[in-house]
Amino acid sequence: MKQARYRGRFAPSPSGPLHFGSLICALGSYLDARAQGGEWWVRIDDLDPPRVAPGAVDAILRALEAYGLTWDGSVQYQSQRSAAYEAALEALRRRGVVYACGCTRREIADSNVGRADVAIYPGTCRAGLAPHKAARAWRVDTRGARVHFEDRLQGRIEQDLEYAAGDFIVQRADGWFAYQLAAVVDDAELGITDIVRGADLIDSTLRQVYLRRLLDLPTPRYLHLPVAVNALGEKLSKQTLAPPLNMTFPQSTLIQALAFLKHAPPLALRQAAVPEILSWAIAHWSPADLPQARTIEQES
Ligand SMILES: [Zn+2]
Repeated sequence: MKQARYRGRFAPSPSGPLHFGSLICALGSYLDARAQGGEWWVRIDDLDPPRVAPGAVDAILRALEAYGLTWDGSVQYQSQRSAAYEAALEALRRRGVVYACGCTRREIADSNVGRADVAIYPGTCRAGLAPHKAARAWRVDTRGARVHFEDRLQGRIEQDLEYAAGDFIVQRADGWFAYQLAAVVDDAELGITDIVRGADLIDSTLRQVYLRRLLDLPTPRYLHLPVAVNALGEKLSKQTLAPPLNMTFPQSTLIQALAFLKHAPPLALRQAAVPEILSWAIAHWSPADLPQARTIEQES
């Protein structure tokens, strides 16, 4: 069988402008794709309309351009794809691997069987809705679901989904599709062969690997990069008040992001323009030399 050409993607959610943490993910996936002569696509994960910040999509695309991260094809938008998600949910229903859940948030919290910090749904509605209940959300039956994947950087990762995640939601009570289902459907539709993203998404990857198995979709290769955290161990994000990217002098932040990935260019290039720095970074990209950690503290 012919090996599919490398196709990667960067899929930011437009809850705000890019910051240093998201630049690392964009850069890592871009360099990995370009170093293998592959394509690199951009998808806006705007699945949750109330969380879409006005102007964020434009700000993200302008930042990618300023940092020289040019994409292939047209930008994809999850908000335009609900028919495809509905079809995937229907396929899961036909296979009998999802079920309607009528529990309220409160009922689930009261019957929490997981660790104190992770709410694990106890499977109340697996055998059917109680007579007085209406379907609110759709959940995947995870009984007996042992999942694993080989991460190119972090090694073999496995999980017993039933106990670690529980029967997770694929369509929410408010009618929106869950990120896990949407990401799987979109990555498959675009023919994504390689996913390079932050290690904070490893738990999501395990659920997505399971959904792919249920939907008979091929599993892409994965590489989970270390995530930049602050001194408190919190991911740099809009919630932890990470500053937006420097747009007037992107070179210095670009070099900082490369250094974070243990891929800093030689001193002679420190004053170079963005395209020169990126050409060097593509030519010398070496995933084996990436820091093999899930988080790295970033001084601010
Ligand atoms: Zn339920």
